[in-house]
Amino acid sequence: MDGNAPAGVADKLARLRLSFRKKAEGELDLLAEVVSRLSRGEQAGSGRAEDIASTYGILHRLAGSAGTFGYTALGNQARRLEQRLKPLVEQDELATDDFNRSEANTQPLFEVIEGIEGLRSLLDLTDELAKDAAGIQGHSSRKTGESDPDILVILCGLPQAESVFLEHALSNYGFSISRRGVDSLSIGNEPGMTTVVTSEESLPRVSRVLESIVSAGGVPKPPLLCLGHHDDFRSRYALADAGADAFFPEPIDAPQLAERIERLASEQSERISGKILILDDDKHLVAHYGAVLENAGFRVRAVSDPEVVLSELSEFRPDIMLLDVRMGSYSGTTVAKMIRFDPEWVSLPIVYLSSEQDRHIQLEALAKGADEFITKPVSDDFLVRTAQIRCYRARQLNELLIKDSLTGLLKHSVIKQEVENEYARCQRMSHVSSVAMLDLDHFKAVNDQYGHRTGDVVIKALANLLRNRLRSTDLIGRYGGEEFAVILPECTTDEARKVLAQICVAFADISFATPDGDLSVTLSAGVAALGEFAAGSDALDAADQALYERKTSGRNGVTVFQQV
Ligand code: GH3
Ligand code: MG
Ligand code: MG
Repeated sequence: MDGNAPAGVADKLARLRLSFRKKAEGELDLLAEVVSRLSRGEQAGSGRAEDIASTYGILHRLAGSAGTFGYTALGNQARRLEQRLKPLVEQDELATDDFNRSEANTQPLFEVIEGIEGLRSLLDLTDELAKDAAGIQGHSSRKTGESDPDILVILCGLPQAESVFLEHALSNYGFSISRRGVDSLSIGNEPGMTTVVTSEESLPRVSRVLESIVSAGGVPKPPLLCLGHHDDFRSRYALADAGADAFFPEPIDAPQLAERIERLASEQSERISGKILILDDDKHLVAHYGAVLENAGFRVRAVSDPEVVLSELSEFRPDIMLLDVRMGSYSGTTVAKMIRFDPEWVSLPIVYLSSEQDRHIQLEALAKGADEFITKPVSDDFLVRTAQIRCYRARQLNELLIKDSLTGLLKHSVIKQEVENEYARCQRMSHVSSVAMLDLDHFKAVNDQYGHRTGDVVIKALANLLRNRLRSTDLIGRYGGEEFAVILPECTTDEARKVLAQICVAFADISFATPDGDLSVTLSAGVAALGEFAAGSDALDAADQALYERKTSGRNGVTVFQQV
């Protein structure tokens, strides 16, 4: 089990382990009953066939799950017995009287019966060992996944004047800023993403301190960005060698630096997070996988009933799916095939979790539409790493499909569809949500005076500001060139107006350094209540009308749509 789990998760995992143990004891009792019938040889024909099949089923389940809960020896032994029994289960004469006449049948059955008697002692032995080990292990404080990742920028080992300037300039973008000395540098207790910014001079010391904090346990390494004057190959090489993850040349252009920090932080968060749907009919396993993956920063929906899988998919919209192969009367491979009926899920990565060790069956399953096959029992660490890689790739592909390349915001068609989705949610759950349209003021003049490239920087800066200032549940799209659409779920128009007004002030406060002098730009916004219209698109039109009113009444601010 994960020694890095924080106390809450560790407790949860311990409870799951206990309840697995109880269930395993029940299964072993059942096995003992069946085995005693088999060894007395009272059953014949179909009764015996049934007993052998149920013995096989129980061994298969234990082989696939015991290891996950720390009962590795039990799982291994169950696997060996399962393999020994397999040829008997598959043979035709199992239910006939010929069965007993062949020693090739009775010998393995006898061995399995003997082996089963030792399983219970393996269960107890593991618990004793775990009790001894518990005295030695401690808990470190690894962060759990935060649903709302703020970005914390730690300024460390920078000259005083530069720190003060950066603190002011970067806080405009919605980052939390903390100035810390190299010796008092600590990380790990903050929610969300962290980026450390330092100077060329302090880099080696800061890097060493970070390394020691990270290796002391639990905390992922934050990206380390180094500011500096020397922009040649050898200097850059030396910085990379000394531990810098990114370099930013001075003099500092604050919007570009903000964008760089944003990108570093989002790469970091993408690496470790994602949404995972797990379908496995073993409730204990599902709960365990769920706890382990949540502890590693994923959002998890765990389901043990195959019949609800389609509704869970469309509601939760996972990045990847983990799928059990044998689920009572349902087959995972057929479920995967059925999921692919829907064009929407054709590219959903599906990873099988199964106790199946037969390569042919594995290949057949892969051919039916899965991407990877993980053999149970799977260690917590392997599960987390597989999920990370799969989610990361899935997200990268998805990003290309749905995100605008300049800003990283949702594309026009996607945000429009999201407005309709949120509209439907409002109707269903009867909550109040708002939509807003935003547009940069006199932007044509910006392009004309300062050039298109500066215009692009301004657009990106607004995108970053919106991402940082809005909640992670809000959706932001690039609606047109310098027009943006925002969906604020469970937010009244009055709340939306306040949030957007603050964003207007912060944006107007940003100073863009250009060769033709400093520049600041304002923006206007219109807001409408999503649920008050006949369709989502009507609400967007209303927000656009409100925006137009704002434009005609002085720009730089927010207007709420009023029905006349
Ligand atoms: P208003 O305050 O009324 O919105 O005035 P405006 O000048 O912002 O509005 P208008 O719609 O006349 O001009 C929008 C300009 O935005 C024109 C277009 O060249 C520019 N623009 C659109 N997309 C981009 C882009 O991706 N990059 C840059 N640099 N400029 C863009
Ligand atoms: Mg405009
Ligand atoms: Mg416009």
